Amino acid sequence: MSDTGRPEVTAYVALGANLGDAARTLRDALQTLGRTPGIRLTQASSLYQTAPIDSSGPDYLNAVAEVSTTLTAPGLLRALQAIENAAGRERPYRNAPRTLDLDLLLYGSARIDSPELTVPHPRMWERAFVLVPLAEMAPDLVAADRLSTVAGQAIERL
Ligand code: ATP
Ligand code: CA
Ligand code: CA
Repeated sequence: MSDTGRPEVTAYVALGANLGDAARTLRDALQTLGRTPGIRLTQASSLYQTAPIDSSGPDYLNAVAEVSTTLTAPGLLRALQAIENAAGRERPYRNAPRTLDLDLLLYGSARIDSPELTVPHPRMWERAFVLVPLAEMAPDLVAADRLSTVAGQAIERL
């Protein structure tokens, strides 16, 4: 329990960036995440480099963070969006290159299906750039057959 009276929930956040100094952006975002009230950063994966799949522009850098949070899932999403916005995120069109993308992958064992938030993230199981860093930190969350379905996607650990 925390001083807000809400129990802490373990959540996983995917980070991606492919514009500007992406490594710097991801490291700054991890630091900002850990300093946000109601969020503790408990683990971060290595950084990974991947070619854009449904997107365009330079290669992506990706990582996954484990946090312990007293925020609700919608509250955590709002905190992630505030960090994206502070990093200059714009959405000119779908899958456009981005300075910073923060997706909520898992929020405890919650299943959420609202207009603004779907958890588990509905596309996470198709994406090596999510599953490989997630498996590095939390191998029990990613079954071997899940990893083998994305084995054809090139990803390099930095
Ligand atoms: P994808 O979701 O396929 O990774 P994207 O990250 O490029 O695509 P965005 O433009 O960043 O998509 O987000 C579009 C909307 O997705 C957001 O406004 C948000 O409300 C919604 N959304 C739904 N579920 C989630 C989630 N689990 N994490 C982050 N955003 C989510
Ligand atoms: Ca995304
Ligand atoms: Ca997103």
